[in-house]
Amino acid sequence: MVSEEEISIFWFRRDLRLSDNAGLFNALKNNKAVLPIFIFDRDILNKLENKEDARVEFIHLVLTELQKKLVAIGSSLLVIHGNTQEIFTKLLKTYSIKNIYINNDYEPSAIERDSRIEKLAKQKNIPFYSFKDQVIFEKNEITKDDGLPYTIFTPYMKKWKSSLNETHIKPFATKNYFSNFIKTSPFRFPTLTEIGFKPSRMKYVAPTLNEKIISNYHEQRNFPAIEGTSRLSVHLRFGTVSIRHLTAKAKLLNDQWLNELIWREFYMTILFHFPHVVNGSFKKQYNRIPWRNDETEFEAWCNGQTGYPIVDAGMRELNTTGFMHNRVRMIVASFLVKHLLIDWSWGEAYFAEKLMDYDLSANNGGWQWAASSGCDAAPYFRVFSPDAQTKRFDPQLNYIRKWVPEFEELTYPQPIVDHKFARERVLNTYKNALGNILV
Ligand SMILES: Cc1cc2nc3c(=O)[nH]c(=O)nc-3n(C[C@H](O)[C@H](O)[C@H](O)COP(=O)(O)OP(=O)(O)OC[C@H]3O[C@@H](n4cnc5c(N)ncnc54)[C@H](O)[C@@H]3O)c2cc1C
Repeated sequence: MVSEEEISIFWFRRDLRLSDNAGLFNALKNNKAVLPIFIFDRDILNKLENKEDARVEFIHLVLTELQKKLVAIGSSLLVIHGNTQEIFTKLLKTYSIKNIYINNDYEPSAIERDSRIEKLAKQKNIPFYSFKDQVIFEKNEITKDDGLPYTIFTPYMKKWKSSLNETHIKPFATKNYFSNFIKTSPFRFPTLTEIGFKPSRMKYVAPTLNEKIISNYHEQRNFPAIEGTSRLSVHLRFGTVSIRHLTAKAKLLNDQWLNELIWREFYMTILFHFPHVVNGSFKKQYNRIPWRNDETEFEAWCNGQTGYPIVDAGMRELNTTGFMHNRVRMIVASFLVKHLLIDWSWGEAYFAEKLMDYDLSANNGGWQWAASSGCDAAPYFRVFSPDAQTKRFDPQLNYIRKWVPEFEELTYPQPIVDHKFARERVLNTYKNALGNILV
């Protein structure tokens, strides 16, 4: 039976906040009785082998916070577990739905999913609105003068900065319209166990911007032993912080940090325009490289047992915390691809499983950068020396000592491969595979 009250739906996805949320603002401003929903997509969750996945728990905790805020204003979040299409079909039968609102997502599978739901809505003559929210500039907003997408970061970044004005960072004042959330008693909230996952003792820590860290960012960002970066990636990933707010802060505090936020958008734009990167090299000729793909060596890399302390420290930080410092991500990625000649997509998949901040565009961009197959990648002949990187970026060995305390003991493994040998091997392999089209 269809309920009589006309409602509009706002569908949360990677925009899990009430404040400064573009799609939510438009839903609330233009409608009465906005029903906020979140779907634990069974098709995505089923693919996660680890049923203690910290990201699912993180989302669950964030939704619990949202629910508290909504219940406090006499409304509620509807959280449903299942197949997205089936859920919408059912919602369309249960409620008298006037409009559906979302924020844009740029991943190929999300674009496909959203267009399926849009089609379903259109069949019932229900308008489906989608807004830019998780980036400052999207799709074709920053292009070269000929209208084509940039594939090199620096000119993209310059155009991005020269296009930015106050309107792009103005917050959406959702709070002014909170009275337009649907009035309802709280909906039953599925537990983590009910959706097939095991809770740990994780607590949700709301995002905070440490202005001192951001002000010193350009000097400290490369040293993994120092708390010199924002640690906001997980919040940017799930939208628990607004990009407009961070961009406004970056403009005031640190231009180098603004560049990092722009890297994020650059890779999202690359994924949007060149979705083939999901399944292969951005520069397609790099698909010819004959990887060695030694499974035992891959396992040693995953477990932080390569005998290269800086690589092992990074992998152990990742395995223990779900985070790895950016400098070390670059080192371990380069090591896997270039020292061990293992397909970058193996490393990409391992990071995707382990990183709390896992994001398809940034992860794929980072891996293809390391493999030299990406749009604006490290040149193929750049093979990071783990020892030289350690001397520069962990000179007191504090980061290594923290994660590999036994690195000077006899029990610590010998290096899995000799650096000089590995360097020559990868240069020859790349040269032979790519011939004279090396770029
Ligand atoms: C191989 C590899 C894989 C990576 N995988 C991911 C990933 O899955 N998810 C992810 O968010 N980042 C990824 N990065 C980028 C970067 O390492 C992290 O964003 C950063 O370490 C997060 O720490 P932070 O929040 O303290 O970042 P800060 O240094 O404070 O930077 C601020 C924000 O800018 C963005 N950012 C910074 N550097 C990059 C970058 N190189 N590319 C894209 N965005 C960037 C992030 O959103 C970050 O939170 C990867 C990098 C490499 C080399």
